[in-house]
Amino acid sequence: METTRWVNWARTASSTPVRRERPSDVDELARAVSRAVDEGLHVRAVGAGHSFTAAAVTDGVLLDLDALDAIERVERRPDGSALVTVGAGIRLAALNGALGALGLAMRNLGDIDQQSIAGAISTGTHGTGVRLGGLATQVVGARLVTAAGDVVETSPTQQPELFELARLGLGSVGVLAAVTLEVVPAFLLEAVEEPWALDDVLEQLDGPDGLVEGNDHFEFYWFPHTRRALTKRNNRVQDGPGLNPVRRWVDDELLSNSVFEVTNRIATAVPAATRRINQLAARSLSARRYVAPSPEVFASPRRVRFREMEYAVPRAALRDVLAEIDRWVETSGEHLPFPGEVRFAAADDVWLSTAHGRETAYVAVHQYWRLPYQRYFSAVERIMAEHEGRPHWGKLHWLDARRLAELYPRFADAQRVRAAADPDGVFDNDYLTRVFGPRP
Ligand SMILES: Cc1cc2nc3c(=O)[nH]c(=O)nc-3n(C[C@H](O)[C@H](O)[C@H](O)COP(=O)(O)OP(=O)(O)OC[C@H]3O[C@@H](n4cnc5c(N)ncnc54)[C@H](O)[C@@H]3O)c2cc1C
Repeated sequence: METTRWVNWARTASSTPVRRERPSDVDELARAVSRAVDEGLHVRAVGAGHSFTAAAVTDGVLLDLDALDAIERVERRPDGSALVTVGAGIRLAALNGALGALGLAMRNLGDIDQQSIAGAISTGTHGTGVRLGGLATQVVGARLVTAAGDVVETSPTQQPELFELARLGLGSVGVLAAVTLEVVPAFLLEAVEEPWALDDVLEQLDGPDGLVEGNDHFEFYWFPHTRRALTKRNNRVQDGPGLNPVRRWVDDELLSNSVFEVTNRIATAVPAATRRINQLAARSLSARRYVAPSPEVFASPRRVRFREMEYAVPRAALRDVLAEIDRWVETSGEHLPFPGEVRFAAADDVWLSTAHGRETAYVAVHQYWRLPYQRYFSAVERIMAEHEGRPHWGKLHWLDARRLAELYPRFADAQRVRAAADPDGVFDNDYLTRVFGPRP
């Protein structure tokens, strides 16, 4: 299957592997790892290259798992859910299509579908929904090629500690060859998208009927330099009217991509126009409501290139975090044409999940890729530090192992498992050394 590859999507990381290999099955994958080890080369796997961090970068052998993209096994359960084992290189769009054909779906997804399943789980990719976890919480088994070239099956009962880092560990303990996902019967979502005043959103967030608890999936975007937001409420329904394809094209392609690219270019050329542009953009948003299969509601095309930082904070800290970011934006003199995004997730028990042990609000800030981002993102990172923020593993941040150890209760366990699984650092690169710490 031909897929679009945008390695280094945000143009923040450079990649100069000695060579690139595309194994066609798990045996070839194991041989590729062993060969690299014999030659004394590092190994990294790459998915769609959609991480903003240099997580997939290597100076050794880069393994592209696009050929490992088949559904291998489907085990149906009486309640309609199923365990599906799938090649680790499959892109989410293809996975969603294959699951849909089986009458199945992922419980929750992020807002694009271009990533590989392996890359998505390895960085803790998540969607929104206060009763739901990220993609790694939907993984119940993982087949791994280790640094020794062995093919190992892991799950909550088989090598459970290795499984923890296999399902979310930046490829630090091996190359994923296949994953087993717990999926649910296919479902429809009703999407309700409405522009709101930001203050109304914040006022109505909490409580049993609030925006967060009262919807299966709630998120909102806010426009810097304004008090306007775009809210998205997605809820399970049995049926309902779909979206006229012309309206979908106008909203998702024309306004969200083509026109948005133009407004970002204008803001780049005339920074002082940014506030006005954001006000106009926020005011020109119109409401829409439609019903569609869940993958079509979760994912939208994102063609305007940007850089992103996203932090997970305890949900109770959300209002303070947003107020502090807003204060900084208003006093910094920065011009920020890209909206920020707020999402929610349930607490989970995955060792390196950004939602580990706490109900979470995710706050993402973006900057158009032609504009400087360091000052803005550094200021946001300082604010997040005051609220025990944990950075998304695949998005820009400057934290290192010392700080991360304070933020994750199981961090020392993760370091121990990594050291035991890969004692010689076969899967190391600069990013992993920074976030896991140098080897003793
Ligand atoms: C436009 C855009 C929208 C996004 N939306 C969201 C969102 O809604 N929610 C969210 O949480 N994130 C989001 N992200 C971030 C994205 O989901 C993650 O960065 C994800 O890791 C990208 O998947 P990938 O296949 O491109 O992985 P890559 O960037 O290729 O790799 C990510 C990591 O996984 C490792 N890896 C890849 N394949 C394997 C394997 N087979 N075995 C072991 N390790 C492997 C790599 O070595 C690397 O460490 C978005 C990113 C972009 C660019």
